[in-house]
Amino acid sequence: MLEKKYPVVEVDLKKLRQNIDEIVRRCKEKGIDVAGVVKGFNGISQTLKLYGELECSYIASSRLEHLENARELGLKGPFLAIRIPMQSEIPDLVRLADISLNSELSVIKTIDKESGRQKKRHGIILMADLGDLREGFWDKAEMLNVAVYIEKELKNVYLAGIGTNLGCYGSINATPDKMKELIAIAETIEEAIGRRLDIISGGGTTSFPLVVNNTMPERINHLRIGEGIALGRDLEDLWNLDMSFLNKDVFTLKAEIIEIKDKPSYPVGEIFVDCFGNRGHYEDRGIRKRAVLAVGKVDFALDSQLEPRLPGIQVLGSSSDHLILDIQDYEDGLAVGDILEFDLRYSTMVFLTNSKYIRIECRE
Ligand SMILES: *Cc1c(COP(=O)(O)O)cnc(C)c1O
Repeated sequence: MLEKKYPVVEVDLKKLRQNIDEIVRRCKEKGIDVAGVVKGFNGISQTLKLYGELECSYIASSRLEHLENARELGLKGPFLAIRIPMQSEIPDLVRLADISLNSELSVIKTIDKESGRQKKRHGIILMADLGDLREGFWDKAEMLNVAVYIEKELKNVYLAGIGTNLGCYGSINATPDKMKELIAIAETIEEAIGRRLDIISGGGTTSFPLVVNNTMPERINHLRIGEGIALGRDLEDLWNLDMSFLNKDVFTLKAEIIEIKDKPSYPVGEIFVDCFGNRGHYEDRGIRKRAVLAVGKVDFALDSQLEPRLPGIQVLGSSSDHLILDIQDYEDGLAVGDILEFDLRYSTMVFLTNSKYIRIECRE
């Protein structure tokens, strides 16, 4: 067993708790339930407990492993599976999730059979694709037929509601118009089945701005929020929203300096490709002070999504196991053995919390 301390990702549980509170409170005020999505940091156990203790109405993930872990920790749920399920995982899905997002009738029929076998009632949220072009019914007549079929023909699953996902593949913005489109689909289904749907799920973090600027149409009563709670970065950086009520530093990467030297900033010799086969871009700024840190692409995949906390420090690049920084403009001295801190973004959070080389430390 190695006794290594670094690299480590520290999770500030107090700050995470505050973020959950702030988001859930704002949604509750508008009659919106929040599913806390934990896939972005691989469902770290201590964070799962927080989502369980607080006011999140659902614990949600795309990976059943996270829901299984949450159950083993004694969390009560309800548990929501947010990746439309594989035919091959239905026994686990029914065992671990109370409710799931779906778009394929053949899979829903399997869920119905398996729910009967496990003596459970499983909720189905049908997904509508409103243009982002990932999961969901494109043909809304087909969606209506499936909704009616679930309502009338299936005994062990029930139609809990409908939902949509935006801003993931097609980069489509969540707007009040898109939300109204979803509500119109819900109303068509409600007319056909003769009752109101419990859940109209308007999306993830990218739909939260509508809550903040008071433009969320009334019938949207459910959001599935991951990034907004864990990092709170995208809304401010991309939407120019005031998210000062959120902590942006719940997650911190700490890595150790293993070399500091003055070197040319432009590679010396015949330039070909880097260790991943890419042609690099190098700016000649003369001799500069550089630091090499013991952490690499194997851990974070994208060095451009790491943000040094100290001013005057710039990420130059990385290889599998090394991160290279320009530290010339950092005023105070740095030495080999020093630990540097970085803010994370979604991609680096996902990869780092899933790297077996990274220690995770949760702090109260
Ligand atoms: C990942 C995911 C979410 C949460 O997305 P965030 O941007 O992290 O809020 C919500 N719904 C679905 C279907 C997802 O796959």
